[in-house]
Amino acid sequence: MESSQSMEFSRRDFLKLSATAGAVAGWATFGFDLAPAYAQAQGLKIDRATEVRSVCPYCAVGCSMIAYVTGHGETTSFNTQPTLVHIEGDPDSPINGGSLCPKGASTMQLAVNQDRVAAPKHRAPGATEWQDISWEDALDRLARLMKDARDERFVETEDDGDTVNRNEGFAWVGGATISNEEGYLTTKLFRALGCVGVEQQARV
Ligand code: SF4
Repeated sequence: MESSQSMEFSRRDFLKLSATAGAVAGWATFGFDLAPAYAQAQGLKIDRATEVRSVCPYCAVGCSMIAYVTGHGETTSFNTQPTLVHIEGDPDSPINGGSLCPKGASTMQLAVNQDRVAAPKHRAPGATEWQDISWEDALDRLARLMKDARDERFVETEDDGDTVNRNEGFAWVGGATISNEEGYLTTKLFRALGCVGVEQQARV
């Protein structure tokens, strides 16, 4: 009895098979053995890639991912530049066991996207356009504004004389990809600066 798989053999499948078989047979008549090359071409695109573990950036579940990177920068030529070729769920993760929701599964389009914002941006007061600035300028500006805001809005004592040392000048919101350790460090830092508004996307 014919299996359902063979029943579904389509015209497109037939044409593909015919073309492949024809090509292999044609080169074989000239003495070339194309079988190894054909087998190589059938390999997965992640065959030689380096696995890099990461965390989905989208929501507080924090699903674990494996990012596959080819090219290790051995030379300065383009084709050995580290290149992200695939992202999938990490099967070893106790959180998601290899699965990703549709949003997480589309992360490749976030990482490799010509519209991705790749530099800090600044919009000057009153300006309508955002300008790219360097990371150095962005961090200098951030430090300056944080210092000024803290100096301006720092409350040492309440009206009744209680010491509070409270910084009302700014707050902190961490991203979904921040690990426990990073969360610990940022909490320490912002508490040390006197912040009372310290939040994390995992709780939002
Ligand atoms: S894969 Fe989906 S559920 Fe998991 S962290 Fe990403 S967005 Fe959240």
